[in-house]
Amino acid sequence: MRRMRTQVGIVGAGPAGLALANVLAGAGVDCLVVERGSRERVEARQRAGLLEHRTVRWLREQGLADGLLAGATRHGWCDFRCLGHTVRVDYGACSGGREHWVYPQQRLVSDLIGTLEKAGCPPLFSHTVRAVTDIASRRPRLKCEGMEIECDYVVGCDGFRGVSRAALPATGHRVHNRRYPYDWLTVLAEVDRPAEGVVYAVHRDGFAGMMPRGRNVSRFYLQCPPGDSPAAWPASRIVRELRGRLTDGSAEPLPTIGALPEVRMLRMHSSLTEPLRHGRLLLAGDAAHVLTPSGAKGMNLAIADAAHLATALVNRVRHGDGRALAAYSAERLADARRVLGFSEWLLRLLHLPAGPDAGSPRAELTDRLATIRRLAEPGPESAAFAHRYVGSGAEDGFDDPPG
Ligand SMILES: Cc1cc2nc3c(=O)[nH]c(=O)nc-3n(C[C@H](O)[C@H](O)[C@H](O)COP(=O)(O)OP(=O)(O)OC[C@H]3O[C@@H](n4cnc5c(N)ncnc54)[C@H](O)[C@@H]3O)c2cc1C
Repeated sequence: MRRMRTQVGIVGAGPAGLALANVLAGAGVDCLVVERGSRERVEARQRAGLLEHRTVRWLREQGLADGLLAGATRHGWCDFRCLGHTVRVDYGACSGGREHWVYPQQRLVSDLIGTLEKAGCPPLFSHTVRAVTDIASRRPRLKCEGMEIECDYVVGCDGFRGVSRAALPATGHRVHNRRYPYDWLTVLAEVDRPAEGVVYAVHRDGFAGMMPRGRNVSRFYLQCPPGDSPAAWPASRIVRELRGRLTDGSAEPLPTIGALPEVRMLRMHSSLTEPLRHGRLLLAGDAAHVLTPSGAKGMNLAIADAAHLATALVNRVRHGDGRALAAYSAERLADARRVLGFSEWLLRLLHLPAGPDAGSPRAELTDRLATIRRLAEPGPESAAFAHRYVGSGAEDGFDDPPG
């Protein structure tokens, strides 16, 4: 049995674990990221793409944004399509010039692995943590095949199905799960021209969305009945439905869609675990809260958790000041709840209700079009939407100028 020791053991090399490890390593805190996947696999996993204003601000402050500042494109508007109208919401203008940065998650992950390597603290790839133990003691442990790592603190950044959540005591924590009455087919598609901005279609056949991801790739979403299977969606049906829902009444044709390298069904659910700290185990990112892709918030929340934890652990480990660590769970849960509230509000705008209480589709769509138009007109409603959507930081009481 190989035995190792570190101050902060981090399970999972996603955006949360890697961002945290970079700051800890830079501040002289000994840490080790343990990741079950190979480096190639982790760097190839395509998921998120929209980075909020506050996320980029923090990455910049930490010196972790060189790749994205050089390679990202910026977006400050989105289009809503409904009842044959296209309504452009200029959330950049409504939030005082703040914008999203479009940078694929796998490129950010790859950048963060590179900087960690340069700091002499490379993640331990292809090692699965089988159990997190002794979390109530001063020396929690990560147990892997043939290896045990003794830590001062363990941070579980291993996603919703990770082993860290499994280490929580049976009593003393609560998990709030919500299942939505639809699923989303998610498609990565090769396109002949980049999406210039996010497009949301509210349609009687169901929601459809188009998200920019780069020059030749876009991500698309299609609302499906809950429990639907990707097998029911051959390429011809996907393209037909995207065209029907996204171009309805629009002068703007869809890009030509080529190969579909990824077609998956997303079970639409959200989950929040509380508290986020149990003894010396802390949860961050998707291990702590899972949101649907609505509003593009998951990776941003994961990095915001890492930002808080980085300061808190440096203060605790280097300076013996545990105040920020003590505040971690309550402060991050409050932010996660606020973001979840926004994400659910957007889901309600984008989907028509089903069932006996639903109004006529035409009446529902007319209501939605009126709401969407208010988001496009200057005023408090559009400003609140803009700040929440772009993650300006102003909504949590910190109003910094656009950068
Ligand atoms: C289709 C899609 C589109 C999305 N779009 C957006 C978007 O535009 N904007 C946005 O902000 N968010 C988006 N998200 C959400 C975002 O991708 C996640 O919220 C984000 O990846 C969470 O980061 P994380 O570091 O918490 O976890 P993850 O990225 O899930 O990383 C967890 C890591 O832990 C590892 N791991 C798990 N178990 C173990 C173990 N036992 N031992 C060792 N390692 C382990 C995993 O291999 C993985 O590498 C999207 C998600 C999906 C699915």
